[in-house]
Amino acid sequence: MVADISSGSNATEHAFRHEPRTRLSIERKLPLIIGGLLLVVIAALSVAAYLEARRSSMQVAGERLHGATTQLRLSLAQSAAQLRTAAAAIAAQPPLVVFARRRDTVARAGALAALRSADVQGAGVAQVLGTELRDASGNVVLSTVPASYGTATIALNDVIPRTEPGDSALVGAFRFERDTAIYPIAAAIPGGGDLYIVRWRRLGGGQANRELIPRLIGSDASLFIGNADGTAWSDFAGSVPGPVQDPASTDGLHAYERAGGKRYLASIVPVPGTPWLVAVDFPRANVMAPVNRFVRELALIALLALVLGLLAAWILSRRITQPLRQLTHAAQAIAHGDYDQQVRIGHTDEFSVLGAAFTTMAAEVKHSRDELEQKVEVRTRDLNQALVQLHDAQDALVRRERLAMLGQLSSGVGHELRNPLGVMTNAVYYLRTVLGQAPANVHEYLDILAQQIALSEKIVGDLLDFAREKPPQRQPAFLAQAVDAQLERLAMRDGVRIGVDAPADLPPVLVDPVHLGQIVLNLLTNAVQAMGGSGRLTVRTRSNGTMNHLEVSDTGPGVAPENREKIFEPLFTTKARGIGLGLAVSRTLARANGGDLTLVTEPLAGGATFRLTLPIATEGAA
Ligand code: ADP
Repeated sequence: MVADISSGSNATEHAFRHEPRTRLSIERKLPLIIGGLLLVVIAALSVAAYLEARRSSMQVAGERLHGATTQLRLSLAQSAAQLRTAAAAIAAQPPLVVFARRRDTVARAGALAALRSADVQGAGVAQVLGTELRDASGNVVLSTVPASYGTATIALNDVIPRTEPGDSALVGAFRFERDTAIYPIAAAIPGGGDLYIVRWRRLGGGQANRELIPRLIGSDASLFIGNADGTAWSDFAGSVPGPVQDPASTDGLHAYERAGGKRYLASIVPVPGTPWLVAVDFPRANVMAPVNRFVRELALIALLALVLGLLAAWILSRRITQPLRQLTHAAQAIAHGDYDQQVRIGHTDEFSVLGAAFTTMAAEVKHSRDELEQKVEVRTRDLNQALVQLHDAQDALVRRERLAMLGQLSSGVGHELRNPLGVMTNAVYYLRTVLGQAPANVHEYLDILAQQIALSEKIVGDLLDFAREKPPQRQPAFLAQAVDAQLERLAMRDGVRIGVDAPADLPPVLVDPVHLGQIVLNLLTNAVQAMGGSGRLTVRTRSNGTMNHLEVSDTGPGVAPENREKIFEPLFTTKARGIGLGLAVSRTLARANGGDLTLVTEPLAGGATFRLTLPIATEGAA
């Protein structure tokens, strides 16, 4: 049972020992998982926020670009309309109409003068290069344009869009002459047949527009004006590479890259009533700058959130793992047999309940284990006792078997030996008498002879007494007399001193005198034998009113505690030449006479004391 329990605890210990220690502990796993989740959430939110910020930034930028180009396009369309009206008015001047009818020298001079005066009159004349009068084939008939500009060689099909019916005047595309962006405005001379005027103007108003743009969008924005076919672009100052149109764009916004790799965002719109495009762009980096700033701030906040989250996760995991560790330690300790484990968890949550339950469980396990051990102990003791009893019973059985045989043998042999022993005793007595003067060693041998004969007589007596089952013939007898008589018979050793304390006024006991003699002789013989040659033999007699006691004490080795009951069993002996019947027979005789024979237990006194108890003979009892 004990072995079972310990092997059970070993098994638990095993289970603990085999726990893989390399596995990641919850204390680390929990913050990692929470940190990982936090990271994913923060990353997803950051990406979504970045995309949204970028989208709205782009949208705002697009709207601003769009607003600026719309405003410009309106103002350009307006001034183009004015220019067309102005050109139509010039074309309608009478000198020109006259010249268209009669192309003579006078009319020619009048027409030229009219053109010249038109060049220096009216609004925006500063931008006017000059005016030409052309025929249907495009040939210049009259011109106020300085020859250095070479406009005469320009085929107007290149710059004037196809004339629509009802158009009084048309604005044409740009071209660069002597680094100046110039454009034509054409108007037919009413009733002039195939003649029409072409007014060449420099691209003007750049300064005002360039100042308008930063106010509308910002200092990094650039303003462009160009032809619808993209052939020429100007920034109102000179020829520049213009923005590149993205054919896929649907919202008028175009992303493109300039030489040098810088990326721009442009809004390009056509100017109504002209073959022009107006465009405003600015660097994409400017649009993205606030987004990038936002992303940096977001990253900082995300980092802070992550650190805080990890810290919180760590605190949480410690809150969970600390009680767990405490519980594990307690469980391990219990597995090692330490049941006094107390698990005290400070927090007032499920763990404290678990800890209290664990402590109660440990106490209960300890209690039941103690109980079990106690039971095992009691059972083991009982078992051992039973074993000893079994042994004793076995011994007794063996002795009883031997007794049965002995009973038969002893009466036959005893009778045969008694007479020769009697004869030998008489012979020794006789020899002692006749050899009074013999040397000392002869007497010594005679003593030895007498002792050995006495020993043999005791054995024979024991055997016969044992075999005989005669009812006692009780009569009043004095203990002191019986003691004296048996001391006489006792084969004495020289070293043994004898003390008798027997008050003369002790009442007689009721006993079979032969039995009494046998008992007393037995006790005296045992005492002498126990002392092995030297010591003190004491005989005391006492009365308590109903019983008399006779105690025989010696100073021998005493009786071992384990033999105290056994010595009264037949055939139990510790002597090499004993047969173990003396005390058994003596007790049987004492009890047959209404008394008892016991061993007085006085462990401190040393030696052995046997007490014979016999009833006092009352009047008329005999
Ligand atoms: P035996 O004398 O043949 O051994 P007994 O029945 O007289 O048989 O004695 C039984 C045993 O009791 C002895 O062997 C001895 O061990 C023990 N015994 C008897 N008397 C004494 C004594 N006075 N002192 C010590 N042991 C004794």
